[in-house]
Amino acid sequence: MELQFLGTGAGMPSKQRNTSALVLKLMQERGTFWLFDCGEATQHQMLYTTLKPRKLEKIFITHMHGDHIFGLPGLLGSRSFLDGKEALTIYGPKGIKEWIQTTLRLSRTYLQYPLHIEEIDEGIIFEDDLFRVEAKNLDHVIPCYGYRILQKPLPPMLLIDKALQLGVPKGPLLAKLKNGQDVILENGETIFSQDVTTEPNKGVSLAVLGDTRYCQSAIELSQDVDVVIHESTFDAGTEELAKPYGHSTVTEAAKVAKESNAKHLIINHISARFLPHEANQLRIQGLQEFPSIFVAEDLLEFEMKNGELNPIKK
Ligand SMILES: [Zn+2]
Ligand SMILES: [Zn+2]
Repeated sequence: MELQFLGTGAGMPSKQRNTSALVLKLMQERGTFWLFDCGEATQHQMLYTTLKPRKLEKIFITHMHGDHIFGLPGLLGSRSFLDGKEALTIYGPKGIKEWIQTTLRLSRTYLQYPLHIEEIDEGIIFEDDLFRVEAKNLDHVIPCYGYRILQKPLPPMLLIDKALQLGVPKGPLLAKLKNGQDVILENGETIFSQDVTTEPNKGVSLAVLGDTRYCQSAIELSQDVDVVIHESTFDAGTEELAKPYGHSTVTEAAKVAKESNAKHLIINHISARFLPHEANQLRIQGLQEFPSIFVAEDLLEFEMKNGELNPIKK
C-alpha cells in the first residue's frame, strides 16, 4: 500500500506546492486508489504520476474550503472522458452534494458512470471485508472531518512446504490447517496449525486529518495508527496566531502523533510562507515532540508495510 501526495500547500497553490490532495494507492488490495481532498488542478498533478482516473474508487472530502474541493468537477468530468465506467463514491460534509450536482448541471457535464455522493456524520462511513473508514469532526473554522482508515487483519498463510515435510498429505487436511484447525495424521501424529502457518498479519492503519486546531478528535482518530497525516500550516511558537485561523503548528501536529501513540507523522498543508529549505526547519521543530516526522512534498510517495513508512525514491 502506498501514499502519494498530489498537493501539499495551504490555501493557495504556489510553484512548489499545489493545494490539498492525497492518494491512498490500493492497487494490490483492491485494484483501485482512493483520494483524500481534491484541490484545484489535482487532475493536472495526476498527469505526473502513474494514476489512472478510471481506477479512482472513492473520494473523501474533509471540508468545503476551496483549496480542498475546487479540483472535483474537472476530475469527475475527465474520469468520464477517460472511459471510467465503474461507480465512484464521494464522502464529505453537508453541502458537498449540492455543490457538485449544481456545478455538473450548470456546466452540462454528463458522467458516463454512476456517481454516489454521501453526506456523512461522525462514525463508520464505510466498511467491507478489507477496510473500515471512520470519520470524526475536527476543530476548524467550518465543519471539517478527519478520517481513520483501518485495513482488516490479513489471514495467516499456510507454509505448504513445511506441512508437506511434516507428512500432511495434499488435500482437505491442508485447508483445515490453514483455517486454524489442528489435524491428526493416519499415523496418529498431531500437526498443529500454528506450526505450519504464518502469524496473522496486522493490516495497515492511518489517519488522514483535514484542517484543524489541536484537538481531542485528532488524537482519537490517530490512536495507535501506523501513520498520521496532520496539517502544519504554522511553525513552532505561533500557536496563538494559528488558532483564529483554525490551524495547527508543527508542534501541535507532533503532539497529536505523540499522544495518540502513532508510529509515524507526515505533516502537510504547508504554507507558501515557508520556502523549501525552511520546510525542513518545521520537521526539526516537531522532532522536539515526536521522533518520526516526514514533511510532505508534491508527488512524494511513501510505502506503508508492516507498520513501517518509507519514502519511495525516484
Ligand atoms: Zn486548507
Ligand atoms: Zn480549511
